Amino acid sequence: MNESRNRVIDLLYKYKNRQLKPYFMKTVKENNLEDVIVKETEFLPEDAKIRERLLYIEKDLNEILICKFCKTNRLKYCNNIFRCCCSSKECYKQNLSNTVKLIHEKMSEEKKRERSKKISNSSIGKKMSEEAIKKLSKRMKGKKQTLEIIKKRRESIKKYYANGGKHWSRGQTKETNASILKMSESLKRTFKENPEILINAGKKISIIMKAKIASGEFTPNITNSWTHWDCYVTLENNEKKKFRSSWEAIFWLLNKDLLYEKTRILYTSPEDNEEHTFIMDFTDNVDKILYEIKPLELMNKKINLVKIDAAKKWCDKNQYKFVLITEQWYKSNIDVIFSLDLSKHNVNIDWVNKL
Ligand SMILES: [Zn+2]
Repeated sequence: MNESRNRVIDLLYKYKNRQLKPYFMKTVKENNLEDVIVKETEFLPEDAKIRERLLYIEKDLNEILICKFCKTNRLKYCNNIFRCCCSSKECYKQNLSNTVKLIHEKMSEEKKRERSKKISNSSIGKKMSEEAIKKLSKRMKGKKQTLEIIKKRRESIKKYYANGGKHWSRGQTKETNASILKMSESLKRTFKENPEILINAGKKISIIMKAKIASGEFTPNITNSWTHWDCYVTLENNEKKKFRSSWEAIFWLLNKDLLYEKTRILYTSPEDNEEHTFIMDFTDNVDKILYEIKPLELMNKKINLVKIDAAKKWCDKNQYKFVLITEQWYKSNIDVIFSLDLSKHNVNIDWVNKL
């Protein structure tokens, strides 16, 4: 082992022990270690990224890891681990079915019987507890409709037409119909428990709510506007910090001093000519910078141009700098992003590869 290889290993060790973060790749570059890393892993093809090479060094491997299914391709590397197979679809499927088989084999006969009993007991004719319903609805938030729901909706549409194009509840009120009464009670409860639902209804935001958003007393519900993932970062005290998108989560992971959704700027929307609040993604009160994260394609929308114009004016007035973060930022920080340890967070970064 030569001295430079030792330097690489030393750096890796420090990184693993959290003495160095998160600009690990920057440190590698500053110490001119990239060439050393490539040289130490010459057995890997040219397309192997520095992060993958580092894992080979870390695991003290001297030859390419081969997929056990096809026995030809290189093992897939992703997010700082080696996957169970290569990136071909066939091998992935094979690996999946193997895992299922293995789990089933490991289960004793008794356990299998118990399990199928449990499943049938739990689902037939039983009423769900309120807690179970709450859990389920939380899990379903932002997810696609199940087949069952789609079927139900189709049936209700059929009923609507069978009723001569009239809704089944036409003419009925909660005083005359028990189902309507039940529905209205449950809606009331829902709104009481989750006032943000009203916000999501979009155009019908009350003046009071608007004022609350502008003053920072209230922040609209966190839902991901660009992905279906429930995106969060686990903090050191195990608390979960939610983000509206994995773009924001990644940006924050690399800039942890920034304040999330702190600065609120008023603007007049061209859509309804009313005043709305633009919540800036990140605020740096030390260097006086506001950051807004937006994919470039969304910048063609008039509403976004208006919002950003308002933000720039606010910045001029308050002597702040306005910085727009687009896919370009992620592209130029791709190495740093891949060097992040995301195992404890729920942040999907598959999109980084597609940039
Ligand atoms: Zn394979």
